[in-house]
Amino acid sequence: MDYSLFGPPSELINIAAFIAPTGTRSEVLHEQDSSVDCSVFDIREELNVLWNTPALSAHITKKFEHTISTLHSASNPTKKKRPRLPDPDNYPEEVTTLQGKLDVSSLLSARLGATAVPFLRNPKNTDYNTLLHPKIWSDGEVSPGHHAIITFSVYNRVPWDTSLVARISQHEILSFRTLSDLYRLLPCPYKDSLQTDKPLNTGPSPSQFVICVEGVAYGDSYDKKLVDHLGNMSKSKKPLRKGTFGVDETQLASLSLRIGQPYWLVHQGNCEHFIVLDQISIASEERTAHMQTLHISPTLLDLCRACTKVPAAWTILNDIRLGESPCPLCGPCWRNMGTSEDPTVVPIPLPSYDIT
Ligand SMILES: [Zn+2]
Ligand SMILES: [Zn+2]
Repeated sequence: MDYSLFGPPSELINIAAFIAPTGTRSEVLHEQDSSVDCSVFDIREELNVLWNTPALSAHITKKFEHTISTLHSASNPTKKKRPRLPDPDNYPEEVTTLQGKLDVSSLLSARLGATAVPFLRNPKNTDYNTLLHPKIWSDGEVSPGHHAIITFSVYNRVPWDTSLVARISQHEILSFRTLSDLYRLLPCPYKDSLQTDKPLNTGPSPSQFVICVEGVAYGDSYDKKLVDHLGNMSKSKKPLRKGTFGVDETQLASLSLRIGQPYWLVHQGNCEHFIVLDQISIASEERTAHMQTLHISPTLLDLCRACTKVPAAWTILNDIRLGESPCPLCGPCWRNMGTSEDPTVVPIPLPSYDIT
């Protein structure tokens, strides 16, 4: 797989040292503080008001879309221009005031010019979020001490090209949690179950999995043979060794991790995922213990081969009436086919993707 899809990775970050209240980290932060004059928190309230006022947010969105389409048609003159309705002569006063402020802003990066064109692309499926609000996982207790908030994304290989990956979800977890807790957040229809109401840090590991982090394979249910096998798979890389503790005992705070480095996770025999850290920050004193799912990309489902209109609910094996085996079909199309006389025909229900 092409690892450049994620990178470049950061230096190794020792989580325990990162959250330590004294030492080099606080000195570095202090040095930076003196050179910073403003913070995004200064404009947060103003932006919230702007976004929650329909006339203003609609104006901003429309203006942005207009700028993008103007840039696109300027860089691609052969493309047919869509006729545009003229702007109204009279904007509400609040919109005129806002636009006036934006026009005199000295923040040059806020204005998109021709140089921005190579960096523009249409939205991808993985940019959309099926969650309207972050999904909060059961609370549990915060263990005393300092914690880091670790934000990570889960990537899967895309079905049509296994050398490519796409982000399927993003989550937030505190550093006192374990690798098992991290695994609980992973959305995958092949997991045993997605039990959101189950208390965390209790009971046995929810499923068998192994995760490889910086040359160490962690997993309770995988024996030494698998770790040996993983170590031998790539001759060019350093062999893997087995983690001292299992996934239920290994706290994230005990690890050294790199941002932007994919960590391979495998479960259910051969279902692969890549865990990539997006950011690590210091948790405030008031931060509760809950874990959150911040983003879930819409699932791309196989369409029914017969009607090509709706996602398939069944996959049919060995039916000579269909052109292929297995063949994905929706419920109505499979019912309309009628039963087959052939005893080798097997309809298999596809996994449910109800993960929101
Ligand atoms: Zn999986
Ligand atoms: Zn159909």
